[in-house]
Amino acid sequence: MLLTHQYKLAPTPEQVVTLEAWGELLRRHYNYALGQRLDWLNRTRSQIDRCSLVREPIGEISDKVDYYTQASDLKQTKDLFAEYKNIYADCQQQNLMRLDKAWKRWLVPDKNGKRGGRPRFKKRGDICSFTFPRVNNPKAGAHLVGNILKLSKIGEIEVILHRPILDGFEIKQATILRKADGWYVSFSLEDKAVPEPLPISEIKSATGIDVGLEKFLTTADGQSIAVPQYYRKAQSVLAHQQRKLARRIKGSKNYQKQSNKVARLHLHVARQRKEFHYQVAHWLVNSYDLIIFENLNIKGLARTRLAKSILDVAWGAFLQILQAVAVRRGKHTQGVNPRGTSINCSGCGERVEKSLAVRVHSCSCGLVIDRDWNSALNLLNLGSVGLPIPGCGGLEVTQPVRQQVSFVNLRCSRYTACS
Ligand SMILES: [Zn+2]
Repeated sequence: MLLTHQYKLAPTPEQVVTLEAWGELLRRHYNYALGQRLDWLNRTRSQIDRCSLVREPIGEISDKVDYYTQASDLKQTKDLFAEYKNIYADCQQQNLMRLDKAWKRWLVPDKNGKRGGRPRFKKRGDICSFTFPRVNNPKAGAHLVGNILKLSKIGEIEVILHRPILDGFEIKQATILRKADGWYVSFSLEDKAVPEPLPISEIKSATGIDVGLEKFLTTADGQSIAVPQYYRKAQSVLAHQQRKLARRIKGSKNYQKQSNKVARLHLHVARQRKEFHYQVAHWLVNSYDLIIFENLNIKGLARTRLAKSILDVAWGAFLQILQAVAVRRGKHTQGVNPRGTSINCSGCGERVEKSLAVRVHSCSCGLVIDRDWNSALNLLNLGSVGLPIPGCGGLEVTQPVRQQVSFVNLRCSRYTACS
């Protein structure tokens, strides 16, 4: 199992200068290497329906450019630009590997026939990071001893170990990166042991979760969690700070300060959202052995008028976190096609047409429950076919009962069950 732990670094001012210099040099080298690849592609390709005149090469065409040719050019780079000698060689290779990955993602379709976008040139001040591919072995350029990270050619940097590195995990890689509020290190941790998933025959409880804009999610037993709307709450502060930024002269010291302030605000919102997602995921995994969710077309939904709300709840990110948490804890998740789940009656299967504004599902068979609750029950029915789970409760209830799971409860349930 692979995990990533991120820790904040406490570099000295001199170290910050070195780190920034490395980031900048590697950025330039990345752009150069990308330019080399694009140039080669341009000079050797012509689309079927075009005249090759435009692409007719002038001068000699270089050999195919790939990772290996670029990596062997590194020596020349160091001869021409002496400052590259100060960078740990493995970091430079990793930089080229990263480009190679992006390049292949662009040109080679994956198994679903999808390709990534064209790799972009990195602007000054874009996310700046570099990777040490080995940690804590004799050949490594990075060593973590206690709370000191020893980096080759940089020196010893203090790591703020806010939580211990898990027992039994081996540190595979260390990536140093800059965020709006300082420098961080991301360790990729690997444990050869994979947690055994719970045998199917031992699944005792299951639930369907219906995600929505009114409530973050509703479970099949009628519990719901409110949408925290971090982005909406931060919006007025953000707008104020952004207006301030617009008044600054671009490129000035004050502009930089203010743009950092805006970046920190965004970082804060993103962190709040992520923590909320983890809390909900842990709560669900603590409460149920199997969690059934709907496969949503989030990209399609985000193109509608509700885009801001939809991106604010970030279901896609949540579902990924939920699945990761479930795997770690040996629980099961399953995605099902959401077609008809909000229209069909979960009691009798009859279609009950209703618009988005109608919040209560009321069927001729006598079932009157909250609309989202009905969907969650449908999801549970769809996903738990053939599983030894006792009948889904709540069907006899005729009142739209709604229990709101509060944040305080969430915290409790998460921490008591983990300890
Ligand atoms: Zn019905």
